[in-house]
Amino acid sequence: MRASLNGMWSTARSEALDVGLPVPIEIRVVRSARRLRLRFDDVKGTLKLTCPPRTSRRAALAWALDQRDWIERQLARAAPLEPLAPGALVPIDGVDTAILWRPDLPRTPTLIETELRCGGPRESVARRIEAWLKKRALETMSRDVADYAATAGVTVRSVTVGDAGTRWGSCSSDGRIRLSWRLILAPPDVRRYVAAHEVAHLRHMNHGPEFKAFEAALFGPGLAQAKAQLRRLGPRLRRIGRG
Ligand SMILES: [Zn+2]
Repeated sequence: MRASLNGMWSTARSEALDVGLPVPIEIRVVRSARRLRLRFDDVKGTLKLTCPPRTSRRAALAWALDQRDWIERQLARAAPLEPLAPGALVPIDGVDTAILWRPDLPRTPTLIETELRCGGPRESVARRIEAWLKKRALETMSRDVADYAATAGVTVRSVTVGDAGTRWGSCSSDGRIRLSWRLILAPPDVRRYVAAHEVAHLRHMNHGPEFKAFEAALFGPGLAQAKAQLRRLGPRLRRIGRG
């Protein structure tokens, strides 16, 4: 049983609550670990507990519980997660937009100026808004990529959106571009900079000086600002739709 946990995080939400921890805890057995180690993932809002082999789950959880003061300090310091709930503000193209929910409105969200209106059952509002954002992200960024590809004279085979950890985009040598749907939350220049960056990789599959010059020419003025803005906004964008 323990061996099957090797290298994999297993979430123990109910156990965490049983032992009195305020947030879910993910436990991973690591063969090379010498001692128990606890880390707080403030993007997911979970604790990550690394255990050496042959540590019982119960002992590991008891040890984690002893770190309660440390855990409370991490929670107090962490920025809040931002679920896509009625009344919340979600930035769309970088513009804070209020989520308005009323059961009699259409189920499919509609964007009207700075209001995102959504009806249907309350418990599925977050899921429907996320699906709507992903669809908008795919449509918008497919256009961004097509524009840059035309300018660059390269062929893009496919554009897809996903949610890959800390990566905003990736590009394969055969022309498949994958972008984070969360970029639709960022101001257009920030989102377009990532599209230009990935398209530029279809000419240079590295980050060398030739790539940098090509990327800068493709994006035009403001590249450094867009890059800096993504670095600044990134942590918040990753908290949206979670919690
Ligand atoms: Zn790159």
